[in-house]
Amino acid sequence: MLACLLPVAGVAEADLDAIERFVAVYFDCETRRLAPLATPPDAYDAKRDQYDATVILRAALAQSPPGATRLLVVTEHDIFIPMLTFIFGQAQVNGLAALLSLARLRQEYYGLPARRELFIERVLKEVLHELGHTFGLVHCQDRQCAMSLSINVTNIDVKRGELCAACARTLGDRRRAVGQGANGADGENRGE
Ligand SMILES: [Zn+2]
Ligand SMILES: [Zn+2]
Repeated sequence: MLACLLPVAGVAEADLDAIERFVAVYFDCETRRLAPLATPPDAYDAKRDQYDATVILRAALAQSPPGATRLLVVTEHDIFIPMLTFIFGQAQVNGLAALLSLARLRQEYYGLPARRELFIERVLKEVLHELGHTFGLVHCQDRQCAMSLSINVTNIDVKRGELCAACARTLGDRRRAVGQGANGADGENRGE
């Protein structure tokens, strides 16, 4: 498995380092950092002062190198899909790509003092969540499982940085299937 990390221009190197290390260890896979993607001009929605996740994901997919098993796109932009006020991330279920926004994972976003460790914890939980979707995992009812749906950072903080036993088993099965080349990129998109 080759997991490619594609930052949208503006993400700090230290944050990308933490994400790349986590993915390499958690998924026990090769990783590659791609050159930053310029923000697609048509992604910005002036009325919402936010960025369209679908437009970013589409532009990112055009940059996916041959041989990539997964494409993890990371942005500082606050992102949305039309039916929701915001999303933390979006993923193609059973697909290639996942997108994660760091914008709302910092304490500073909520007017609170910075807590780097907490920020990174949230980032890695959401990386696992979004990549979990790309392996076909759906939202889990266990509030402590990383695959549980988060609609705010409090939900994220309740989650552990790992999967419940059932989701871990499913991930293992799906990963073996991917290893055998059975992965289709039939990417139905899922917000958060
Ligand atoms: Zn679970
Ligand atoms: Zn989700």
